This record gives sequence, C-alpha cells and structure tokens, in this order.
Amino acid sequence: MRIANCDGRLVLVDGNRLLDVQTAGGGRFGADPQSVYESWDDFRDWAAGRPAGEWMLLDPARLGPPAPRPRQVFAVALNYRDHAEEAGLEVPAHPSIFTKFPSCIAGPNDGIRLSTDRADWEVELVAVIGARAHRVAEGQAWEHIAGLTVGQDISERRVQFRPPNPQFSLGKSFPTFGPIGPVLVTPDELPDPDDLEIRCSVNGEEMQRSLTGNLIFPVPKLVAELSAILPLLPGDLIFTGTPSGVGSSRDPRVYLKPGDVIVSEIAGIGRMSNRCVADEA
Ligand code: ZN
Repeated sequence: MRIANCDGRLVLVDGNRLLDVQTAGGGRFGADPQSVYESWDDFRDWAAGRPAGEWMLLDPARLGPPAPRPRQVFAVALNYRDHAEEAGLEVPAHPSIFTKFPSCIAGPNDGIRLSTDRADWEVELVAVIGARAHRVAEGQAWEHIAGLTVGQDISERRVQFRPPNPQFSLGKSFPTFGPIGPVLVTPDELPDPDDLEIRCSVNGEEMQRSLTGNLIFPVPKLVAELSAILPLLPGDLIFTGTPSGVGSSRDPRVYLKPGDVIVSEIAGIGRMSNRCVADEA
C-alpha cells in the first residue's frame, strides 16, 4: 500500500491515481494524514479490501509530507560506514541519536529556505512508526513500522558543530530542513525493505548513492535501541542516517545556495525534488 498527503488530505495511491480516504471510507478515517497512524492496523485492513470510490489523477506537485506533524523525530548521526569515514569518525557501538524538531518537516516539493551559506544535503531513508513501540525486540520491530519514505536531513554545519557542544538538533531543525515524501510505502510492497538503493543529486550531479543494506544500524536495530529507552509513538519519524557524499566532506567543500535543486530518491519509494530559496527573514 502507498499513501500520500494531497493538499493536506490523506489519499491512497495506486500508480498515478489517488483515492481520498475520508470520502471513500464514509468518514471512518479522518482527512488528516497524521491521524491515520493512530489507527494504522484498522486502516491497513480497510485499504487491503480495495475500497471502492472515485479514483482521480494524481498531481505530484500537490503532495505534502506523508506524516506532517510527528510528535517525535529521531535521527542518526553516523549510520553508514563510508559516511563515518568521510567525517573522520569511528564506527559507533550504539547509534548516535539527535532530534529534528517537528517544525522542520516539509513536503517533497517544498522549497528549502536558506538563511545561511552553510547548509548541506543528506538523503535518508525515513521510517514512520505505525504502532506504539516500547521495549520492542529487533525481531518484532517491523510490526511497529507503518512504512518507509524518502527524507532529506538538511544540515546547517556551522550551528551543528558550534562549540562547546555540537548542536545537531538545532543545526538540523531550521524550518523546511526536514522534507519527506513523496509517498509512504508499506514494507510488504518492497522486495527487501532492508536493502534499497538510495541516491541524491544536486543540480543534476549525483552526490550520493548507496544501499540501505549498508546501514550500520538497520531499521529494526534502531527501533530496538530507541524503544529500549522511550516509547515510539504512532506517526513518529526515524531519519536513519546518510551515506557518504555530503557537501561538507568534499574538497573543496560545497554548500547549498539559492536556486540549487536537490533530488532525493529511493528505489521502490519515489523521488523528491526540493529547490533551495533564499530565506527572507
Ligand atoms: Zn542525517
């Protein structure tokens, strides 16, 4: 199953067509895409029954974030071996976690508002929680995931590394620094949800390409490690980390500037295209 947020309304997606969930379900499920994760199992069963209704043509330009208002957004600092190496850091024993504050979440076509000259790209696989997870073992982790989407963990490197203690959560939480989309795909739709090709290009030049199979801590391990400490709530996001090829690790360093177009893509899920714009503060 694929779902999306079209003009702020929850829709089922099938190829290039969409079905409005509130209308087709006769009000059984609300129109708000964020609310569906509270009754995910019920919704998934309903959707599996191939609900009847008026399927309309999908216009990708009208899609917003498939989970627009998560209560918690987790992100992993070093989760690909090659990215740890380019950052000159040891591969960690436990995932290194920070938060992206939820107000940074944006859609798959939204502009990335730049207020400084040190913003960088990080394409990432994003897992969306579908059932409350507290003290969940790796073997049960996928049962708590609604689905996967594409994300960008846009990062302002000056704030991120500002002394005396690095400020990852602030540097990665400027408004629009967390675009996700274009759709949420349930794990059963993917041949292997633990091994997907992930790519990022800027202005048509490929900057990042890897496989999510290269994650040091795959999705089930992240669910286990996080939920050992606190409950993961329906609709929460986990940005799982980025592979090598970010701008700040290049020689010379490259940062985003107004007019740049970031294309982020994961095989089997889809692609986002986000244009950078100057933030007129
Ligand atoms: Zn990241």
